[in-house]
Amino acid sequence: MKYMTEFRDGEVAKKLLDVIARESLRDIRIMEFCGGHTITLVKYGIPQLLPGNIEMVSGPGCPVCVTAKGEIDAAIEIAKRPDTILASFGDMVRVPGTRLSLQQAKAEGADVRVVYSPDDAVQLAAENPGKKVVFFAVGFETTAPVTAAAVKYAESLGLKNFFLFTAHKTTPAILGALLDGEVALDAFVCPGHVTTITGSGIYKPLTDAGKPCVVSGFEPLDILSSVLLIVRQINRGAATTEMEYSRVALAAGNVHAQKVMKEVFVPRDAVWRGLGVVPGSGLRPGGQYARFDAEAEFGLTPLADESETPGCLCASVLRGMKKPTDCKLFKTVCKPESPVGACMVSDEGTCSVYYRFGGKSLAAA
Ligand code: SF4
Repeated sequence: MKYMTEFRDGEVAKKLLDVIARESLRDIRIMEFCGGHTITLVKYGIPQLLPGNIEMVSGPGCPVCVTAKGEIDAAIEIAKRPDTILASFGDMVRVPGTRLSLQQAKAEGADVRVVYSPDDAVQLAAENPGKKVVFFAVGFETTAPVTAAAVKYAESLGLKNFFLFTAHKTTPAILGALLDGEVALDAFVCPGHVTTITGSGIYKPLTDAGKPCVVSGFEPLDILSSVLLIVRQINRGAATTEMEYSRVALAAGNVHAQKVMKEVFVPRDAVWRGLGVVPGSGLRPGGQYARFDAEAEFGLTPLADESETPGCLCASVLRGMKKPTDCKLFKTVCKPESPVGACMVSDEGTCSVYYRFGGKSLAAA
């Protein structure tokens, strides 16, 4: 398949690994921000194939994982209100809140529906004029434009019973927070899909801080090429943003998607699981679309509760301080079918990725 199989060529991978081993002259710790990259790394055993002086550290780039308990709790509060339907994606209903997940709240009588797109939630509102329908939105810049478009769709239908409760997070603000984290990072493999929307300018704070950035695709050779570009930047003392994923992402991003987001959303402080409140890192409906804001409609705000379930190391996993295998609950109590923490819920969650693919090598894959 074009743009896929040629990026999984084992012979080319071996050559890239040889060049990386030859050219990497010092210890380098690289964070892959995106859960999609974590999947490729672990599935193909890339960290074990890289030379010992290059360490890959997973970041908080799984939107379901960083949804805070306070956001889940607030969504449950909404779902429990009379004549109210709360709609969200399948992953989100399984994320643990303080006491319950949305799935468990549904078992206790809350009206929670799983939808496959924000437009499905708009449709629900159209079909249930006697109820308030709230879409619990999640995701980074990759999904936020679709949510924004759904709000515009609801407006075009003249719906007065459709609302948005958003756990959307934006990337630029969190990148700055990562620089202040406990783990010293030398460089970043940056998220290809987010960059497709935002453009590559969002990584300037990282490069200004002397950290090389490479926007990477999601196949094994993409990531190996990105690591090599980082090694070469470090060797020549550079810190710029390079575009390995140029077959998809443009430096300017998707201007139309950016425009739709700006029309519908305003920035807000957001609570991140494991990282606390990050100023300006969230989105909520604003301006002429403020009437769609469920927080205003229902008079609630997500609490910034950063406590974790006893024994769960999600907060440290999301900050790159621990690996899933450091957690005593990993694979014993905590499994994808019975997740204790958010990192085991989504396919892109680091613990879920390690559970499903941990131990495989590139050769075996
Ligand atoms: S394995 Fe489960 S309990 Fe442990 S850190 Fe991951 S999600 Fe939390």
